[in-house]
Amino acid sequence: MNASDTQRIVDAVDAGFDAQLRTTRDLVAIPSTRGAEGPCQDMIGDLLRERSYEVDDWRIDLEDLKNLRGYGPIEHDFSRARTVVGTYRPTTSTGKSLILQGHCDVVPAGPLDMWETPPFSPVIKDERMYGRGACDMKSGTIGALYALDAIKAAGLKPTARIHFQSVIEEESTGIGALSTLQRGYRADACFIPEPTGGQMIRSQVGVIWFRVKVRGFPVHVFEAGAGSNAIMAAYHLIHALEKLEIEWNERAKADHHFNDVNHPINFNPGIIKGGDWASSVPAWCDVDCRIAILPGWSVADCQNEILACVAAASRDHRFLSNNPPEVQWSGFLSEGYDLKDSAEPESAFAKAYDAVYGGAVPERAFTALTDTRFYGLNYDIPSLCFGASGAAMHGFNEYVELDSLRKSTKATALFIAEWCGVEKA
Ligand SMILES: [Zn+2]
Repeated sequence: MNASDTQRIVDAVDAGFDAQLRTTRDLVAIPSTRGAEGPCQDMIGDLLRERSYEVDDWRIDLEDLKNLRGYGPIEHDFSRARTVVGTYRPTTSTGKSLILQGHCDVVPAGPLDMWETPPFSPVIKDERMYGRGACDMKSGTIGALYALDAIKAAGLKPTARIHFQSVIEEESTGIGALSTLQRGYRADACFIPEPTGGQMIRSQVGVIWFRVKVRGFPVHVFEAGAGSNAIMAAYHLIHALEKLEIEWNERAKADHHFNDVNHPINFNPGIIKGGDWASSVPAWCDVDCRIAILPGWSVADCQNEILACVAAASRDHRFLSNNPPEVQWSGFLSEGYDLKDSAEPESAFAKAYDAVYGGAVPERAFTALTDTRFYGLNYDIPSLCFGASGAAMHGFNEYVELDSLRKSTKATALFIAEWCGVEKA
């Protein structure tokens, strides 16, 4: 790409940035937690149609996905779950095709009184946009859309097919991304603008979700010794799983990307529910857990280690030894992913990065996951993940830094132009 095209695209991102922020704010204002992503998908569909993309908006059928690599079980009503893809078809096809993907699901906001401003009433202050999903990752999705707009506003058009994908379930199973692949969408590369803090994700962990279900024996507290407290028994199992976390972190020291990352494997008991009454020994306790695994580790082997850990801890517990707990797989069953066979898209991105930030692209090994794994592992589509800076994703007062968003949007636009090629519109 010549210098004047580059400059026109960069200028067009600046010219469109206020509109980009307004659209981002509208998307962040939709409370698209798990199962409630529909209005976001409607909005994205409208934005794509306004821009004359060919829109494919479909309901996800779990039957189609069940046997595919990386599928994770769904426990909630999924009858209205949708994926939206907008396709751009070039008049001349000389460049390389691209998938641009973003997820519109967000994690729950948590106690509202811990937010300074309400999570779904986004506000801009101090050069930041605050709101649940402002950082992870609605600003990235809208950034990719406006990156395409900037190419058009610069008087250019891409010379390769582009699929703009808005998916759900990134935060719990990843099957929104999986559904696009099942539907048949393919490209020469995939780019996901998650908020990576201006770094390229070189390697990322996989994640397993599981639920430990303890069933106790309820009695009145006055004769507590005759019963068995399911909540206390669950603590025993949590402590055992913490030992598994230590063991896996030891094993991680042999990984060539994660060996210098401090504590890459994080175990998290994320939800605990149990008992019915303060004066009854609790008969039940369910603990929903998340643990990471590294690229190359088999999900099935790690599942077996989790089962073995829970079984061993139960054997040396008075009550659990006779009432073994159950383990259910409750979401992610995801492998880790190392970027591979990606020299070509990386070199296109390196040019885009250098033009905006100057210098070489910084990299990181990421201790969370992204949807890139499905494209990379299932279909050998090299899948880059790069985006803006921010903080408090999954926490309180989540925000994205606007200057970083402006820059990452420019880098995205230049990468699209470099990878797909452009011609005069
Ligand atoms: Zn995300």
